[in-house]
Amino acid sequence: MKTQISTSQISQPASEPSIKPSIYEDQTQAIAKQILAATRGGFWDRVKQEMRLDDKIMAWAMGNENLRVQMFRLIDCLPALGNGKDKAEIARHMQEYLASDGIEVPALRSLLNFGVDNPNSPTATIAATTLSTAVESLARRYICGANLNEAIKSIEKLRRDRLGFTMDLLGEAVISEPEAEAYLERYLQIMADLSAKAKNWSEVPQIDRAEVENLCRVQVSVKLSAFYSQFDPLDPETTRNRVSEPARILLRKAKELGCAVHFDMEQFAYKSLTLEILKQVLNEPEFCDRTDVGITLQGYLRDSEQDLRDLIIWAKERGKPVTVRLVKGAYWDQETIKAYQMGWQQPVYSHKSSTDYNYERLVEILLENHQYLYAAVGSHNVRSLAKAIAIVQALKIPQRNFEVQALYGMGDKFLKAIADMGYRVRVYCPFGDLIPGMSYLIRRLLENTANSSFLRMSVKESLPEAELLAAPTLETSDGKDTKVWFEGFTNAADLDYADPTNRNAQAEAISQVLSEFGKTYGPVINDQPVEVANFVDSFNPANFSQVVGKIGLANIEQAEQAIAAAKKAFPTWKKLSATERGNYLRRVAEIMEERREELTAWILWEVGKPVREADAEVSEAIDFCRYYAKEAERIMSPTSDRAFPGEDNTYIYQPRGISLVISPWNFPLAIAMGMSVAALAAGNCVILKPAEQASVIGAKIMEVLQAAGLPPGVFTYLPGKGAQVGAHLVTHPDVHLIAFTGSQAVGCRIYAEAAILQPKQKHLKRVIAEMGGKNTIVIDHSADLDQAVVGVMQSAFGYAGQKCSACSRVVVVEAVYENFLARLIESTRSLKVGDPYLPSTKVGPVIDKAAQANTLRYIQIARETGKIVLEMPVPEHGYYISPTIVTDLDPLGVISQEEIFAPVLAVLTAPDFDQALAIANNTDYALTGGLYSRTPSHIDRAYQEFEVGNLYINRGTTGALVDRQPFGGFKLSGIGSKAGGRDYLLQFLEPRVVTENTQRQGFAPLDLIESKND
Ligand SMILES: Cc1cc2nc3c(=O)[nH]c(=O)nc-3n(C[C@H](O)[C@H](O)[C@H](O)COP(=O)(O)OP(=O)(O)OC[C@H]3O[C@@H](n4cnc5c(N)ncnc54)[C@H](O)[C@@H]3O)c2cc1C
Repeated sequence: MKTQISTSQISQPASEPSIKPSIYEDQTQAIAKQILAATRGGFWDRVKQEMRLDDKIMAWAMGNENLRVQMFRLIDCLPALGNGKDKAEIARHMQEYLASDGIEVPALRSLLNFGVDNPNSPTATIAATTLSTAVESLARRYICGANLNEAIKSIEKLRRDRLGFTMDLLGEAVISEPEAEAYLERYLQIMADLSAKAKNWSEVPQIDRAEVENLCRVQVSVKLSAFYSQFDPLDPETTRNRVSEPARILLRKAKELGCAVHFDMEQFAYKSLTLEILKQVLNEPEFCDRTDVGITLQGYLRDSEQDLRDLIIWAKERGKPVTVRLVKGAYWDQETIKAYQMGWQQPVYSHKSSTDYNYERLVEILLENHQYLYAAVGSHNVRSLAKAIAIVQALKIPQRNFEVQALYGMGDKFLKAIADMGYRVRVYCPFGDLIPGMSYLIRRLLENTANSSFLRMSVKESLPEAELLAAPTLETSDGKDTKVWFEGFTNAADLDYADPTNRNAQAEAISQVLSEFGKTYGPVINDQPVEVANFVDSFNPANFSQVVGKIGLANIEQAEQAIAAAKKAFPTWKKLSATERGNYLRRVAEIMEERREELTAWILWEVGKPVREADAEVSEAIDFCRYYAKEAERIMSPTSDRAFPGEDNTYIYQPRGISLVISPWNFPLAIAMGMSVAALAAGNCVILKPAEQASVIGAKIMEVLQAAGLPPGVFTYLPGKGAQVGAHLVTHPDVHLIAFTGSQAVGCRIYAEAAILQPKQKHLKRVIAEMGGKNTIVIDHSADLDQAVVGVMQSAFGYAGQKCSACSRVVVVEAVYENFLARLIESTRSLKVGDPYLPSTKVGPVIDKAAQANTLRYIQIARETGKIVLEMPVPEHGYYISPTIVTDLDPLGVISQEEIFAPVLAVLTAPDFDQALAIANNTDYALTGGLYSRTPSHIDRAYQEFEVGNLYINRGTTGALVDRQPFGGFKLSGIGSKAGGRDYLLQFLEPRVVTENTQRQGFAPLDLIESKND
């Protein structure tokens, strides 16, 4: 396992503050001091004094970053270990997570002194029990009950302390429609049960009344995305339709019962759509006068001020206020990591002080508009709260229009102090089992132990109060470019479809390309189109009545012309420097960036790939150009590091000659472009024979290369029949290298035929062949099933299972088999199969009639040899195949062993991890594999023993990125080095060494001799 860097370590350096003195500052300071004074001797002081184990866990975590990561990872996987009850497993995981050399906490060491090999001993059992009890205590601190009855006791106690509540049901990630429906049902039930209880509660005026208005005693907090498992900003229409109705049902029922409803805010990607949907529903005649509803805004978002201003305008027009709960935001680490990984602008501020500054600004704007929007200020930061109270006092804001909110178990004393000042305080009360509640608990633990957290800072005795309460500033670097680059190769960023501008541009390109259907594309030799006699149609696999383009097929004579053109161009092309050739390729990359949406649309239409995946393919094609350009410069600069006195040894590379690229249809742009530009970067000339089903995209590659000004003959686009033109070129004596990606049968044939020395051939051909796979994901007993189900589903059914890296088998450890399978089936059922141009589509067609027929044949075998547990109806106007899940199979049978390039997934089971790994390794292939596990020793074993070229741990198996995940396998999966990796280009080159005797008549340049004598 690799050590992880916490994102808190990668924030940008601080810079000059931009201080704007606030008219509320003096009062803010006074109120903050008053609250702090009232809280001395609070929770955090108890942490220092009493030191129960759960307190100690927090203290250890705060003292050592490595321990913090390991401890929270252990806690995260605890519920998966026999429902948190398997003591031997817990003990074993304690050793694996905590007994590392870097962790030097004596008390912890003594807890772990039972030894690695002895997880069943009485001492181990005691240690495991102690830990589970401590984690339960920790959970109880932040989760107000395991069930509604316990939760009711907690809220009744809060009410006795004059604190209101908003109830939140902890849930697993909603990954299927039954789960989404169950979520709504449970909320309706919770509201009914709580309202029934509330009837017996005596009034607490401070929270139940405001001026003359009776306030709802029961409030629930819900997440909009939990109403629809496929909540997707790329598909606003379907998402809106699917979540609006449950929201209406909830609001209707709430009114009937006299409850209030508050909508939480989740990840940034969902934010704009969430706001849009809520505004729309709340404007409907049935709901437009409701004031007992709330919306959440997150102050850590850079665009939150605009959102607030938009909400104010909306509320003015609506004429009835709703509540806005202002929080800072709970997903900072996640948002930051995602932005880094995707190469996107960071949506959150990168300095804590900027978040605080912005938050106070939002508080000010919101409170200054309190007649249009009620304010709920949700924070545990005394300074932030004091600022709000100072404004409330200055503006004499009525009681109804302002309240303070906090999370259960966080900053209890602060809240009491604020309640004692007469303000309404509401506590956000999550309840439910620990397993579904784990991600919530981890978020709270992270927040409480983060260096930047106010709660944590407030217990630092060394920190002067003035510093703790100082006015926050907006760091200047937070106002500028928010993208942070890592050193080294930077991958092209995919389009972020959460941004409506990107979405609209893409939709436009999809229509535009549709209007260009039916054109003719023929071979281009020497930069000139050539006449052909035979044509085939390239169909839209999603709708076979549509001809995407007519393809002119080259004949043998034209293949010969292509060879002649390449031979002629080669001497000049090879003499260019790597940088000169690289500049052409960098220009190609730029052109593809400019034509990104259009190229995405061609991929979508010609090979039936849904838009997000097609866009990612364009990124990959761009990456290949830039990466190989750079790699050629690195590799091809001559080195003479083995110089001896009187002797120079120079290691140089030269291109091989003419490269034949035979590319597949499944990544028609990226793979064809990748293999071609690798050859070009290395100084070879290229003849591209694209897959017949994807020849329009082949023509687009030609267009892009021509637009970049590539000299004639260097690249030839030669669509044709594989069996004719392809076979002719494979055996051609002037071809030096064949780069092939496709089926094992064809790959093996090419390998064999290329090996035969032809008359007049003066070299042996080099073959790079990336062939099939039977890719397996192993699900261990400690896996996070929320993650595993989604990861397997996307890996198996994304692009209808037609990626080289698609998962086609999953081996599940028995202990979690039933649960995993049930959730996988339901989750997959919610995937929409249909036309890829529709943003709601998650699974498109297979490539053609033959693929469809072949898959149906396999499905019949699956029916006969196993049990099909999921099949769904599919449209009939294209080559569709339902996502199909098969169980009860022989791990060595046809369905478990043969490559099926389609959305067919075999689910196998094994008694334990060892046997699961053995099954994973039992195929002829070794391309990609995956493991979902939170057991460090199993992860380590997978590193060593899982026989695949690309292994993915705790993530899906598709979506390899150039340079970050160079791609390719071994065994029968192929021959050659990994595409997009540091060895790839070497295959297109011949290494040479030149040794020059630099002595003349016994004398030689002296510098080396002198330096040897130094
Ligand atoms: C009633 C209630 C409801 C809530 N509902 C939601 C919700 O729906 N959605 C949601 O996302 N959160 C929600 N939260 C959670 C809330 O966002 C966090 O608890 C809160 O951010 C903690 O902020 P603070 O002011 O208490 O603490 P502070 O310690 O003052 O601030 C912590 C905040 O600073 C941010 N931060 C930390 N480091 C940096 C950095 N380097 N750069 C920039 N920012 C940084 C953190 O992400 C966090 O948001 C809710 C909170 C409350 C009280």
